Amino acid sequence: MVKVNISREATVIVARCRQTKQPFGIRMEKMSDGAWHCTWAFKISDDAVSHEKYEDTMISGKVVLDPRYPGCPYCGGRSWFNCGCKKISCWSGESQVTCAWCGETSKIAISDNFDLHGSGY
Ligand SMILES: [Zn+2]
Ligand SMILES: [Zn+2]
Repeated sequence: MVKVNISREATVIVARCRQTKQPFGIRMEKMSDGAWHCTWAFKISDDAVSHEKYEDTMISGKVVLDPRYPGCPYCGGRSWFNCGCKKISCWSGESQVTCAWCGETSKIAISDNFDLHGSGY
């Protein structure tokens, strides 16, 4: 099957590393299959988070980790989780994880549908 991935929409979601508490951006692109693919992760500063209003946009729908996703830029965590506080922290497969934003320890419920805050990009 030939798949042409022309991304029409892309956004950046702000996440935090659960180990270092540092923020990073996750680039998500809406692909031709209709899902949001996480394609990139990059370090950002707290200043950038507050100045660029990363948290204003919302995406919803199916979110998948693209094979290109490099993992958390701080600790290499391969994935991320969506806390009940609606924030994202990096994650690498533990059954319990502490949110880097609110400090709550959450049990991970695997789901591929999310409502996320990001930014128009
Ligand atoms: Zn991390
Ligand atoms: Zn939280």
